[in-house]
This record gives sequence, C-alpha cells and structure tokens, in this order.
Amino acid sequence: MDDDARPAARLTVLSGPSGVGKDSVIELIRARSPWIKLSVSATTRKMRDYETNGEHYHFVSRQDFQRLIDGGQLLEWAEFAGNLYGTPRAQVEGWLSTGSPVLLKIDLQGARQVRAAMPDAQLVFLAPPSVEELHRRLVGRGTDDEETIRRRLAHADEELAAEKEFDRTVVNDFVERAADELVGLLGSSFLTPAQAPEH
Ligand code: 5GP
Repeated sequence: MDDDARPAARLTVLSGPSGVGKDSVIELIRARSPWIKLSVSATTRKMRDYETNGEHYHFVSRQDFQRLIDGGQLLEWAEFAGNLYGTPRAQVEGWLSTGSPVLLKIDLQGARQVRAAMPDAQLVFLAPPSVEELHRRLVGRGTDDEETIRRRLAHADEELAAEKEFDRTVVNDFVERAADELVGLLGSSFLTPAQAPEH
C-alpha cells in the first residue's frame, strides 16, 4: 500500500476496571513491542515504589495539573479515586502524525472523552475472567489503604458495566495471551472496519 492510500494511524484506548491487570499487559507490550507508542499520562497521585517518573507517569502537583488543563494541553482528563489523571495531547498527536500506532491506558471517563474527540479511535476493554477474580485481585494488591480499596471496588463494578460501549473485549485470563491479542488489534488498526477480521 503506498503512503497516500494508507489511512491515518489510529489511536487505541485500553480501558477496564481497576485491578484487571492493565499495567501488566502494558509492561509486556513495553518490553516486546517497542513500535507501539505508549502515552505517558500526567497524574497527581503519589508515586508507587516500583514506578519511575516520566516512564509510568509524569507525577505533578494539582497546581501544575490545573495549568495543563487551562492551557488545553490534555487530550482528555479525569478524576479517579481522588486523583487527577490526563493524557498530554502533543505527544499523542505527534506520534499519530508520523504514522505510529499509539496506545492509551486510561479509565472509562477518559475513554468516553476520546470517543467523542476522536471517533476513529479503537476502544478495547480489558475484562477479568470473572467478577469474583477481579474483587480478589483488588483486595490482594496490597498497595492501597482500606478506603482506597473500597472506592476502587465500587468504581470497578461501574466500569464492568461499561463493556458494551467498547469496540472489542480482551479477557485477561493469562497476561501474555492478552498482550498478544491486544498487539494483534493494534497491528490491524491500519485496516478500515470493512477490512478488519471478524471478532
Ligand atoms: P493507577 O492509579 O492504578 O495507576 O490508575 C488508576 C486509573 O487511572 C486506571 O484505571 C488508569 O487506567 C487510569 N488512568 C491512568 N492514566 C490516565 C489518563 O491519562 N487519563 C484517564 N482518564 N485515566 C487514566
């Protein structure tokens, strides 16, 4: 296909309930599929032990986050469990303009904003093998206090109900299999819906 005939690169959004394993899937893609551009969000949340500033997130103050909003520098943003999260617009638009597939790992509110702003975006829902398994993972993670866990459980149930708004569902039964399936969907993001394989 020559460059003129190729459709513009599409944005793919990975969303799903807290605790479903989005981070593990993203880590595998980071290691194995460097051609996929991973957007680094800004957040006001505290950095966790295993995280690196600038790689997992840009950790910023509320004041700096507000400046990003006011300056129109975020493609979307949302408040999640008391913290603000947002996608820096310039990097995503730059990657898309050079034809790279871009993957965003964001929450449901953000996915809806991307759907409205960029109707061509491909929305992928990462689902747990079962609701019980999701609750078990959320309680067992050990990185959050009780109040945070309670808020995450309530939010997770709301997010599970939103699956029908997404173009595709990938079940995170085994992280390697789920990551492979997602990479396959990104590979097909250059196809028009009529050309894409049935799902
Ligand atoms: P965590 O604090 O566990 O890293 O992320 C909490 C939630 O925020 C997850 O559902 C994650 O996908 C979402 N999130 C991370 N970055 C962004 C972002 O830039 N925008 C939105 N809307 N949600 C985000």
